[in-house]
Amino acid sequence: GVGKIEPDKQVESVCPYCGVGCLLTYNVKDNQILYANGRNGPSNQSRLCVKGRYGFDYVHHADRLTKPLIRREGKPKTTEILSQDQLDEYFREATWDEALTFAAAGLKKIRDDIGPQALAGFGSAKGSNEEAYLFQKLVRTGFHTNNVDHCTRLCHASSVAAMLETIGSGSVSNQVKDVAEAEVMIIIGARPTVNHPVAATFMKNAAQNGKKLIVMDPYRSEIARHATYSLQFNADTDVPLLNAMMYTIIEEGLQNDDYIRNYTEGYEELKQNVMDYPPEKVAPITGIPAETIREVARTYATAKGSMIFWGMGISQHVHGTDNARCLIALALLTGQVGRPGTGLHPLRGQNNVQGASDVGLIPMVYPDYQKVDDPEVQAKFEKLWNTKLDPKPGLTVVEIMTAVHEGKLNGMYIMGENPAMSDPNLSHARQALADLDHLVVQDIFFTETAGFADVILPASAFPEKTGTFTNTDRRVQLGRQAIDPPGDARQDLWIIQQLANHLGLDWTYESVSDVFEEMRLATPSIAGMTWERLNAEDSLTYPLEKEGDPGSPVIFQDGFPTKSERARFVPAGYVHAAEMPDPEFPFIFTTGRQLEHWHTGSMTRHATVLDAIEPEAVANIHPEDMKALDIKPGSNVVIESRRGQVTAKARADAGMARKSVFMAFCYNEAAANLLTNEALDPFGKIPEFKYCAIRIRPETHG
Ligand code: SF4
Repeated sequence: GVGKIEPDKQVESVCPYCGVGCLLTYNVKDNQILYANGRNGPSNQSRLCVKGRYGFDYVHHADRLTKPLIRREGKPKTTEILSQDQLDEYFREATWDEALTFAAAGLKKIRDDIGPQALAGFGSAKGSNEEAYLFQKLVRTGFHTNNVDHCTRLCHASSVAAMLETIGSGSVSNQVKDVAEAEVMIIIGARPTVNHPVAATFMKNAAQNGKKLIVMDPYRSEIARHATYSLQFNADTDVPLLNAMMYTIIEEGLQNDDYIRNYTEGYEELKQNVMDYPPEKVAPITGIPAETIREVARTYATAKGSMIFWGMGISQHVHGTDNARCLIALALLTGQVGRPGTGLHPLRGQNNVQGASDVGLIPMVYPDYQKVDDPEVQAKFEKLWNTKLDPKPGLTVVEIMTAVHEGKLNGMYIMGENPAMSDPNLSHARQALADLDHLVVQDIFFTETAGFADVILPASAFPEKTGTFTNTDRRVQLGRQAIDPPGDARQDLWIIQQLANHLGLDWTYESVSDVFEEMRLATPSIAGMTWERLNAEDSLTYPLEKEGDPGSPVIFQDGFPTKSERARFVPAGYVHAAEMPDPEFPFIFTTGRQLEHWHTGSMTRHATVLDAIEPEAVANIHPEDMKALDIKPGSNVVIESRRGQVTAKARADAGMARKSVFMAFCYNEAAANLLTNEALDPFGKIPEFKYCAIRIRPETHG
């Protein structure tokens, strides 16, 4: 008979996908992962979603990069996306020594001939803390610029801008598991069932146990079925809606005066601002009846504990920072922060976007959000890294692309990011990638971005290396190596160090824990974590400043890490999206993820089960709109914005608002970001992925 294949080893690690940070075990035989199963981690209690359970076989895919590659002579770069079949035509194999020498020489030449500001690096929120730390250190000490950023810019940059400005910290105040302690949960601008599936199970459990769930979103998602209140408000009207809730709270005297007096500043300005937003005035703007706004406001304000979770629906707007300011103000106004079962939780997307930000993969701050333009901080890092540092904040993701267009930026090092798919207005971004004089790409697949490279360095997949990863709950967790990288692919930490040394640095880290030790010195909030303890306990929550500290699941219990130790109310007015629908482009376009596919799809579209479930680009449209436009489910539709055009399969979705279309941005055959608008939030510099104007028609009627 057919015997069950038994693993020859079991390796305790973490899921490589989302910020929930589920702990899992890889079951391995002969350097192959047979299966993964959930283990009893603090954030998942043995649960896994479809990605964690079935999304691992991308690591064994035949298309993995296994040799360093150098672009062949005379193969010009255009904005065209190269396919796997074109790899050999455009690139030739090289040795590591040749590839690293070539990669470094191109970067050095730009640095020395044009200047450090002509270089930039995109690190990765999928890599470990140690990789992110070394990457930003390489850009700052090897390139001598702060032009280093990563996809946090496309994700929660506006949330973090608002949080730093108001409460002095970009971290969540409470962990997801606190839903068990809360009476009320608000989920706004987030689809946790899709993007944080295991976290969503705990939220649903809480709702089943009688907690009140308030879902606020222009899209009526699956979790709304569990809601006490589901407010499907008009897209782009978050600020008036939240201001009207605050109006109600103040009008009815439900604000927490003691809390406001003891822990905040700026209340009068906030009050004055929200007085312009009575629910009756806001109702027609948001599409939510005034009485519902009032009820929801009372429910939130009067509960013993209320939590707010938010996602990209809040952050990815030109008013993303304003949206977050309102959520923070709502919590401060009612004192719903600083205790278990309360607080503010921007749900982090990538498995390590929290950690990559914490360790300084951001152009304006060093590790732990210490400002690069603060002379004291600069002196500290010059001492730690034994070099001179640039005192000017660097450029952000979209600004870097714009600088290339302007001829001011000529060389880049991109590790594990895919801007040729993830940036807004892709024609613009792809042109910038094509215009670079020298591009070094480090990745596990021949991504859309790798096609623009001068040199490609084959890297390691998640289960092929060891490192720490910080989940949405501020938990630092250990991912352990389960298998070896294929062929000549190398671990990312080794590649970064080699490149640094080819650039003239003299790095001698021998192990991941060597990097971890230095990172602790640079990052006070994790200074008390030891490698031994992480290895023994798997998961530690920061702030953990002194060895032996238990860690801090609930922060802001007694004030805030601001100069005055108080939080600040920042009022926000109603600002529209950068591009509103009009007769020519009458629909709204919004992008995001699907349950089965992760971001630009470079992993999940190589994962057999996941790609089998969602194999092709779909556009979600309200069934009534489909009827009106004579679009049949499953038929092709052409979607156009002022910037581009894609063709996708229509999918009827009654959760959609009327006159709006949703697409996931993982399909290179119909890249949603060809349509999106690169307009930026002025504070967080995040592009407006959640709103632009489009038109749509059946393909056959073209
Ligand atoms: Fe992985 Fe997130 Fe799914 Fe957990 S919820 S298994 S971390 S993708």
